[in-house]
Amino acid sequence: MTEQPSFCYRHPDRETSLRCNRCDKPICPQCAQRTATGYRCPDCIKEQSKVFVTARWYDYITSFLTSMILSLIGYWLMGLISGIGFFFFFFVFVIAAAIGGGIAEAVRWVIRKRRAKSLFRTAAAGVIVGGLLVLIPELMFVILYGDFSYLFSLIWPTLYFFLVASSTYVRLSGIQLSR
Ligand SMILES: [Zn+2]
Ligand SMILES: [Zn+2]
Repeated sequence: MTEQPSFCYRHPDRETSLRCNRCDKPICPQCAQRTATGYRCPDCIKEQSKVFVTARWYDYITSFLTSMILSLIGYWLMGLISGIGFFFFFFVFVIAAAIGGGIAEAVRWVIRKRRAKSLFRTAAAGVIVGGLLVLIPELMFVILYGDFSYLFSLIWPTLYFFLVASSTYVRLSGIQLSR
C-alpha cells in the first residue's frame, strides 16, 4: 500500500509527509510547529492559545482584591502574636509562606480556574499594595515624629508582605504552568 503524496494545506505546491497531530491536516515543515505533544498546524496552535487565556476582565480585579484583603487579614493575625519575642521571626517565614499558598488557592477558586499569564502578577501586586497601605502610614508617622527607633518595628511587616507576595507569585505561576 503506497501512501498518497499529500500537500501542505497552506502551500498546495509543497509535498509533505508531516501531519498535524491534532486535526491530521498535512503540513509542510515550515508551517509545522513543534509542541510538547508533537507537530501542530498554525490553526490548532491559535485555537489552543485562545483556550489558554480565558480570564475575564473582572478576574484581574477580583484576584487583586482577594490577595490584598487576605494578606491584610494575615497581617492582622500576625500582629496578634507579634509580642512573643525573638522566635516570632521564624513564624513570619512559616506563616507568610502558608498565607501565600492560601492566597494562591483562593485566587484560583475566585477566578474559577480560568487562566491568564499575567493573573499571578496581578495577585502579587494585590499583596504589595496591601503592604503599602500598611507601611506608608507607618512610615509617615516615623518621619513626622522623627522617632526612628520605631523603624525597627516595621521590619517584620515589610518581610511579611514581601514573603507573602513572592510565595503567592510562585504558587500561582506553578499552578498555571502545570495546568
Ligand atoms: Zn491542526
Ligand atoms: Zn506550509
